[in-house]
Amino acid sequence: MKYAEVSVNSPAAQRRTFSYSIPAGLSVSAGQAVWVPFGVKTLQGIVLELSSCPAVEETRDILDVIEPYPVLSPAHIMLARWISEYYLSPLFDAVALMLPPGFERQPLTRIAAAQNKNGHDSSSLSPDQRQVFNLVREQNEINLKELEKRLGKKKAQIAVSRLVKQGLVVRKYELEPARIKPRKVPYICSSLTAGEAREMIAKLREKRALKQAALLEFLAQQTETVLLTEARKKTRCAKSVVDTLVSQGLVTIRQVEVRREPISYRQITPSYPLKLTAAQEIALKAIKDALHGEKTNSNVFLLHGVTGSGKTEVYLQALAETVKLGKRGIVLVPEIALTPQTVERFASRFPKRVAVLHSKLSPGEQFDEWHRIRNGEVDVVIGPRSATFAPQPDLGLIVIDEEHEWTYKQSDKSPRYHTRAAAIKLAALTGAVVVLGSATPGVETFYRAQKGSYQLLQLPERVVPAEGSALPGVEIIDLREELKAGNRSIFSRSLSQATTKAVLEREQVILFLNRRGGATSVQCRHCGFVMRCRRCEVTLTHHFAQNALVCHQCNYKTPVPQSCPRCTSRQIKFLGIGTQKLEQEASFTFPTARLMRWDSDVTREKGSHEKLLNQFRNHQADILIGTQMVTKGLDIPSVTLVGVVSADISLNLPDFRAGERTFQLLSQVAGRAGRGTSGGQVIIQTFAPEHYAVRAAAKHDYAAFYEQEIVYRRQLNNPPFTQLAQLTYHHTNDAVCQREAERMGNRLTEERDAKGITDLSLIGPAPAFIHRLRGRFRWQIILRGSQLSSFLSHVSFPQGWAIDIDPVNLL
Ligand code: ADP
Ligand code: ZN
Ligand code: ZN
Repeated sequence: MKYAEVSVNSPAAQRRTFSYSIPAGLSVSAGQAVWVPFGVKTLQGIVLELSSCPAVEETRDILDVIEPYPVLSPAHIMLARWISEYYLSPLFDAVALMLPPGFERQPLTRIAAAQNKNGHDSSSLSPDQRQVFNLVREQNEINLKELEKRLGKKKAQIAVSRLVKQGLVVRKYELEPARIKPRKVPYICSSLTAGEAREMIAKLREKRALKQAALLEFLAQQTETVLLTEARKKTRCAKSVVDTLVSQGLVTIRQVEVRREPISYRQITPSYPLKLTAAQEIALKAIKDALHGEKTNSNVFLLHGVTGSGKTEVYLQALAETVKLGKRGIVLVPEIALTPQTVERFASRFPKRVAVLHSKLSPGEQFDEWHRIRNGEVDVVIGPRSATFAPQPDLGLIVIDEEHEWTYKQSDKSPRYHTRAAAIKLAALTGAVVVLGSATPGVETFYRAQKGSYQLLQLPERVVPAEGSALPGVEIIDLREELKAGNRSIFSRSLSQATTKAVLEREQVILFLNRRGGATSVQCRHCGFVMRCRRCEVTLTHHFAQNALVCHQCNYKTPVPQSCPRCTSRQIKFLGIGTQKLEQEASFTFPTARLMRWDSDVTREKGSHEKLLNQFRNHQADILIGTQMVTKGLDIPSVTLVGVVSADISLNLPDFRAGERTFQLLSQVAGRAGRGTSGGQVIIQTFAPEHYAVRAAAKHDYAAFYEQEIVYRRQLNNPPFTQLAQLTYHHTNDAVCQREAERMGNRLTEERDAKGITDLSLIGPAPAFIHRLRGRFRWQIILRGSQLSSFLSHVSFPQGWAIDIDPVNLL
């Protein structure tokens, strides 16, 4: 007898597998998706391992396989196990990262007549059973749901169970049908021979049916069938013209199944490897050596280089080498919707050999791309963190661009994994090479590179394709001085003059402010009452367009009050500033400039990023106002001025990474200016001009920032000198929440002392920074120490706890 260890799709399964026996006649291998009985239910499971002895005495049989081939490779199985163990997530949550799109579905149970049971005696059946049995026989096979509809849920289930026991019917399982269908598009071709066509065209011309003649003529010139839309466009034909020709049998329309391809190659021209600079050459050589399997200190590289230093070109050539060796690559980007230009660059270097994977694709596109990847049809997969788990065979290289970005950590749901850690683990399992790229590497990453766990590769300078595109000059404006000088505007004199000048000279300007909306808070001047979200308690932000107050945590909306809800005074005042308010102020200060705003409020729809970006690129606006979105992947030559309206928003967050975050944001914003030939200028406005993160960013000096930051990290015992875990408990009742958090705090302290662990400390329990979120209270405990996953794996956490190992955000 063979047994299988199965990860079952049930919250009750937690971090463990369950043993099932494999019935005779069923062929099952590791990585395969199966149906298993679990309690009274039938659930999906993934076989992680085969064994000859089960972990428990009594095992139940696997019911059936879902697909004939494994959906997970051996490396992915090990990766899933590692994620579950390290991040303390349910095993199936980790497995689910690697399943094909749309795979997690409910099973459909169908009831079929058992074979060779035609001559049975049905007199012993109860009326319910007989009804079911007859229905099954009539229809050969029937959906259990259908039976439940007719007889009632309970009755149908009991009747079916009895009939199964007597061997009269059998259950069959299949996946609920996917709502994903193949896509078809119409093609058109002529039904005539060349001679016939010539005659017909002449005839039509005589009849003055010129459009029809034109279409026939166009088709006669084609060697292959063409897209109907293209034929119509080329000949400027109305649909009626086509219909007429079809009805006369002169042309044929065929529906052809096409693969949904998210990358449109129409506007993409192939690109060729550039001749590398000396620094690029050294970096590429080191990566190539690792790809060739030469002995190196580490298979993980940190490619550190300012924006424009040619990192992407190095990725492209490293990927080309990977392909030359018969292997494939994965390229991870922080947020794909924001980086159409990056996708384009890969697509033009590897035409038709690139797949993209991300949640903004339609389910159909995701489905097609996943299968294309699994079939080995692409050399490069590009996507956000989820693309780490793409079924790319023969993995040779994983690139993580902008490796410091926070979106690489999945913080909002289990498994709370970090892409960097998962990718490095996957590379270790497959023998692949990892390249982490950034202009502003995470402090922890850089520390590891310094210590030699990663190999550090540096591209110290911008590739200067033309005169003047060196790094832009940065000016720091002390807003306290502006106030002293009597300037109460949100624009310092410097920024306002520079903007006016740039607009006059037909150059483009980006104004950056890391907060969307209008005012940051709305306060009663009379009693001081501040409008807060009823569910989250964070201050509400004013949005002009909707004339509403919006919670940026949970999206709760409420109209702007006419009077104070507490004291009924009508003196409502708007404090602080967001991008919408900035837009309004800019329209007063720069009346002749054309403005455009780019933040998540205006770019919710699919494709809207590209649209806005293209409009700005085509100089349809002079000033672009935006949140941190504008800091990513934007490469516009005619931008000569970038203004940071306030550097203080991220600086003032109560998180030990506030300095790092600020440095990264400012550096990236600053990197946006001067990418063209006319040079660039950056103006940073702040109330804290002496802060080391602001000063280092102004000088484009990563080393200066890092050296100061790492001292603080060491002094305060923060990562990389320790490991953190954040445990958050949610409950609708604050007192219950506090009590549970305290109980857990005591429990953890006991566990630590019992084990005699000396380097582990607890911070809290305390209310979380965002104490209330979507109507639930949150208390948290921070653990500081080492090997926290293994320590925590021995503690049982009741429902309501969320565990985040190596959190990127303590708020
Ligand atoms: P990064 O990824 O570091 O921002 P890129 O690879 O995008 O840098 O390079 C910046 C610009 O310089 C791009 O326009 C790119 O085409 C160009 N470039 C990169 N490497 C070279 C090279 N070796 N020779 C000429 N131009 C280059
Ligand atoms: Zn009031
Ligand atoms: Zn809220």
